[in-house]
Amino acid sequence: MEMRTLKIIFLICYAFVFVIRIYYKRRTEQKVIVDARKVTREKGLRLLMLVGVIILPFTYIFTPWLAIANYTLPVWANVLGILMFVSSLWLLWRSHHDLGKNWSPTLQIREEHGLVTNGVYQTVRHPMYTSLWLWVIAQGLVLTNWIAGLSGMVTFGALYFTRVGAEEAMMLEQFGDQYQAYMQRTKRLLPYLL
Ligand code: SAH
Repeated sequence: MEMRTLKIIFLICYAFVFVIRIYYKRRTEQKVIVDARKVTREKGLRLLMLVGVIILPFTYIFTPWLAIANYTLPVWANVLGILMFVSSLWLLWRSHHDLGKNWSPTLQIREEHGLVTNGVYQTVRHPMYTSLWLWVIAQGLVLTNWIAGLSGMVTFGALYFTRVGAEEAMMLEQFGDQYQAYMQRTKRLLPYLL
């Protein structure tokens, strides 16, 4: 597909992420944080991810600076990317909806934190991270540029692999046997698979 069309599609999907995040963020911030983990590392990795999913993609879209690293893909790969963006948005919305006030951008436990095991959390422990994986892979299929396309996977990958173990350890400490049992009947990212 034409690069310009793909860039516009990316921006439209991005607008949806923005709306979903703003909407749910406003609903979570009233609760007091009672435990926060790996604060500095989390902040650093989130900053890195900001570069990978916002700054580099937007540089590619709005300036010619990264054009030297462009590549092309067959149309089916672009279409697959678009479908993955749509699935990612749906899952982002569903997981925010199910997690409700228990959501936080970094590793935190809030006052009156409840363990969510229903909705999209019924078979998978980290549906929001599944949604982000879908997003960053789609980024490489829609933004056809070695830098702006792959930067999302690299930076989110770094965040995911350093965070997920610490998050589960924190949840185990907070919810004990309840989380242990939840871990036994669920997978991390994909129902029944992964
Ligand atoms: N890892 C989850 C949530 C991401 S938001 C996902 O990918 O869907 C991160 C915060 O959510 C963590 O700091 C933790 O406090 C909270 N959290 C993670 N799993 C939870 C669950 N099953 N129930 C309630 N809160 C959870």
